[in-house]
Amino acid sequence: MPVYMDHAATTPLSEKALEAMLPYFREEFGNPSAIYSLGQTTKNVLEKCRARMAACLGALPTEIFFTSGGTESDNWILRGACRARRQKGRHVITTAFEHNAVLRTLEQLEQEGLEVTRLEPDRKGRITAQQLEAAIRPDTGLVSIMLANNVVGTVLDIPTLAKIARDYRIPFHTDAVQAVGHIPVDVRKLGVDFLSLSAHKFNGPRGVGAVYCRLPNRLPPLLTGGGQEKELRSGTENVPGIVGMTAALEEALEEMDQRTAHLLRLQDRMISGVLAMPGVHLTGDPENRLPGFCSFLVEGIFHSVYLVNEMNEHGFCVSSGSACSAASRESSHVLLALGYDKALAGAGLRITLGAENTEQDVDRALTALHEAVEKVRREKPPGAVLL
Ligand code: PLP
Repeated sequence: MPVYMDHAATTPLSEKALEAMLPYFREEFGNPSAIYSLGQTTKNVLEKCRARMAACLGALPTEIFFTSGGTESDNWILRGACRARRQKGRHVITTAFEHNAVLRTLEQLEQEGLEVTRLEPDRKGRITAQQLEAAIRPDTGLVSIMLANNVVGTVLDIPTLAKIARDYRIPFHTDAVQAVGHIPVDVRKLGVDFLSLSAHKFNGPRGVGAVYCRLPNRLPPLLTGGGQEKELRSGTENVPGIVGMTAALEEALEEMDQRTAHLLRLQDRMISGVLAMPGVHLTGDPENRLPGFCSFLVEGIFHSVYLVNEMNEHGFCVSSGSACSAASRESSHVLLALGYDKALAGAGLRITLGAENTEQDVDRALTALHEAVEKVRREKPPGAVLL
């Protein structure tokens, strides 16, 4: 088994979550819309999960809707909120370093006539209140800014940014996919109107997520059909997935203090070990970052996919950036947005640690990384021919 250090891409399923899910794959398979007992049992479970998820996020059960994951949650909120405010708000403010689930969706909406302002983060991945306020227009209908970045791990100051939007009565969405389960997330303290999350980032199953929506009657559905989720998200509910997501989030919150302390220790060890190499730089904010999130730029290599392949040969799973763009040899849009030039923006390395990683894992990864960097610098220097 390789040593897994790519927890920002996805996480292993928690044993507790798996155990909780199994009955809903086996005997409790009823459709929650059915009126006989087998269906009503799963309907009750679904509503209990909604209340438990809401409690984890400081929300009301009526504000939680289940989806198929982060991408659907982002799509629903952006498309729905923009459609709902078509008359008033033709302008959306976001950042240049959001996940593509947000950026690509807004690009498509732009083609349909929406106007989008993309705020440029600073080198550390921060967006200021002044930047946001300066971008607000009379026709701004939505602000969408992520809570934590998936390439450099910076945690943004959403309470301050959301307050600005609220002062102007503009709805605020935060993509909290990387943050939920890793740092405390309370929708009231954040002051947001919409939030997206995804179970597989906090040791829940893949393919299930949720939307927090403060004013559900203002959000038209993305998926229409059988009218599930109060007519707002049709489709037979993924009951095992929802049960697993709920169990995983509760477990993540119960263990957050312990896990954070462990991850901060490992993170320090990893970052200082990697920065001991010449020509390697930490990316993102050294202070406000997700626990266990180590992200770097490695000078003197053609592209970090070669580094990822080398590390794979050594038995370690690490990433060149986000999972969705890991196979492409392009520069990361996130690193470009942070102001790095094109050549360096292809040399990102992301090592995201998880609760199951140990100090020995970190030490072994560091030894392997030293060898891998030397080899890639020798064999694939900048300007190398792609083979
Ligand atoms: N938003 C962010 C910040 C992410 O990191 C991801 C996944 O990497 C997504 C959205 C998409 O989530 P999902 O994989 O559940 O569709």
